[in-house]
Order: sequence, then C-alpha cells, then structure tokens
Amino acid sequence: MDYTITLIPGDGIGPEISKSVVSIIEATGVKINWDIQEAGLRAIEKYKDPLPQSVIDSISRNKIALKGPLTTPVGTGFRSINVALRKEFDLYANLRPAKSFPGIKTRYENIDLVIVRENTEEFYSGIEHYVDAFKSAAETIGIVTRAGSERIIRFAFDYALRNNRKRVTVVHKANILKYTSGLFLDVARTIAKEFPQIEMNDKIVDNMAMQMVMNPNQFDVIVTTNLFGDILSDLASGLVGGLGMAPGANIGYQVAIFEAVHGSAPDIAGQNLANPCAIILAGAMMLEHLGETLASKRIYDAVSSVVAEGTKVTRDLNPHKFVGTDKMTEAIIEKILQ
Ligand code: NAD
Repeated sequence: MDYTITLIPGDGIGPEISKSVVSIIEATGVKINWDIQEAGLRAIEKYKDPLPQSVIDSISRNKIALKGPLTTPVGTGFRSINVALRKEFDLYANLRPAKSFPGIKTRYENIDLVIVRENTEEFYSGIEHYVDAFKSAAETIGIVTRAGSERIIRFAFDYALRNNRKRVTVVHKANILKYTSGLFLDVARTIAKEFPQIEMNDKIVDNMAMQMVMNPNQFDVIVTTNLFGDILSDLASGLVGGLGMAPGANIGYQVAIFEAVHGSAPDIAGQNLANPCAIILAGAMMLEHLGETLASKRIYDAVSSVVAEGTKVTRDLNPHKFVGTDKMTEAIIEKILQ
C-alpha cells in the first residue's frame, strides 16, 4: 500500500535530518508519497506567513505528518508553529519515549520510560500579556480543564495497558498549584480506578526531577501537564544519550504528527553534525502507527546496531571518533538492507 504523508522538513538541522529519515523509510520498502510543505522561518521567507493555509490543508488531507524542527524566536516574534499545529489539530497527547541504547555511554542502563505529556492546555495556551504599556508586569494564564485532564490521563493508562506497562506515575505540583495541578491529580486518582491492572503513583515535579536523575529505572509511564512534560522529556533524553536519540509523537483523534523532541539546533545547522536518530526513530513510531510494524522494527534494530558498534555515529554520541549525518544515515541503511 502507498501512503501520502505530509513532510515538513523544518529549519536549522531540519532539512539534513529530514533527508535522512526519508531515505531510511525508503530503504524499508514502505512506499510513501511525501507531500512536502514549508512552515516556520522558511515559509516566512517564501510566503510571508509562518503557517500557510496550504500546510494545514495538507495535514487535514493526509492525517499523518512527519515534521522537522521549527525555530521559534525567543521572547519576541511569531508564536510557536509547533504549538499552533498541536492546537489546530487538537493533538492532545505528546508521546515521548526514552529508551537506553547499548553502546551509548550514559550514567544508567536499561532505561525504558515513556512520557505522556498533555499537549494543548496550561501554560502553552498562548493566553499572555503585559499588564500595562510600561511592561511593569506580565501575566500568563495556564488553564487546566477536567476534560483535558481526563483524556490525557486515560490515554496514558490505555497506553500502559496496550504496551504491557506496569505503572503510571502522575507528575504535578498540587502542593502549590492547588487548582490546576490539584485538578489534574484528582482526575488521575479517579481514572486510575478504571485500570486496576496498572499501578498508579504520583510525584511532585521537583522531587520527580531529582528521582529521574538519581534512580530513573523506577519509572515506566509518566503522565503530566504541558510545561512539566516538556522539561522532563528533555531530562529523560539526557538519560539515554541526549536529544539526538529522543523521538516524539503528537497524537489526536484524527491526525498524528511525528517529530524529534529536539529543536532546530542552530549551533550545528548545515554542518553535517546533527544526529539523525531522533527523527529516524520518530519515523519508526510513525510506521508503527500506520501498522507497518515490521518496517518500524527494522529501523529500530538498524539504529540500535549502528549505535552499538559506535564507529559510524555522530559527534554527540562519540566526540572522539565520529562521522557526519550523511555517513551515519548510510550506515543505518546498510543495516536495514542486510
Ligand atoms: P535544541 O533542541 O535545538 O538544541 C539544544 C542542544 O542540543 C544544542 O546544543 C543542539 O546542538 C543539541 N542538539 C539538538 N538536536 C540535536 C541533534 N539531532 N544532534 C546533535 N545535537 C543536537 O534546543 P534550543 O537550542 O533550545 O532551541 C533551538 C530552536 O528550536 C528554538 O527556536 C526552539 O524554539 C526550537 N524548538 C523546536 C522544537 C520543535 O520543532 N518541536 C522543539 C524544541 C525547540
């Protein structure tokens, strides 16, 4: 079966790593017609609009997209296109797995956790302003709804059940944010009762950050609100080899967008230094979502094998002996074809 999928190459390292993932999926034999769309900085240059209607139309039509990172100006400028896409398609669940790969030097082994981050509410709602013309104070409103909490928490428990996971840890700050985090925790305690097979516990986010650094193997599935999930998933990636190894999926009822956890990495853009694995693994998640389980596994195994051998990996994985993005991609393709 041929698929038509929207591809947003993105900016910064986006075009380099998007090229990698396209060639890797091609090597599995899965046939994809890529509907290539520009968003973010590249769309501003071309169309004077960071999110042209053609991008929305393409994703609405195809239902699935693979997206490279998109730069968001810090402090000023246009709002995040990543956040806009998640809101536009109500991609309420952000799935961010962090799994150890043998061969990568890290502090811990055998980490296998999944962060389920609420993706549409709280401090990413974009409800913020200065209180006066002098910018003497600023306000960001973080709204957490019962319905929004219910669907993400149910998603996390369902995910745990379907994937043979044992425990869901709910992360919050309900000691201080008694309403927003309090509501989230309250909903979690109710929904947990629907899933007696899955153990539930909860942690306050600051303690959680420490526990993830000191004893990460205790965690299985983690569910949390938007900002905490964003921060903890970068932390989780650091436990398994860094952002270059961390894929993610944004899932809604109709549409799913797959991407790396990392951003556009402007410090290494255009230098053939970017680790393509995060977006390649996101591509594998996409194939799994499409039911192409075998192709997905072949990609995963090929990445694992190249990383384990450690001779054809990018600089972030081995600063003493490394190859470029292109050569690492070729090595992964070779493994797929073997
Ligand atoms: P970043 O993730 O781009 O980079 C953080 C650090 O990790 C940098 O040192 C970078 O070189 C390194 N890194 C990231 N990906 C790597 C890879 N594949 N291989 C090797 N090293 C890698 O975060 P940032 O610098 O804070 O953000 C840069 C821009 O990306 C910002 O505009 C931000 O808004 C945007 N961003 C976009 C997304 C997205 O598109 N989903 C996510 C996060 C950040």
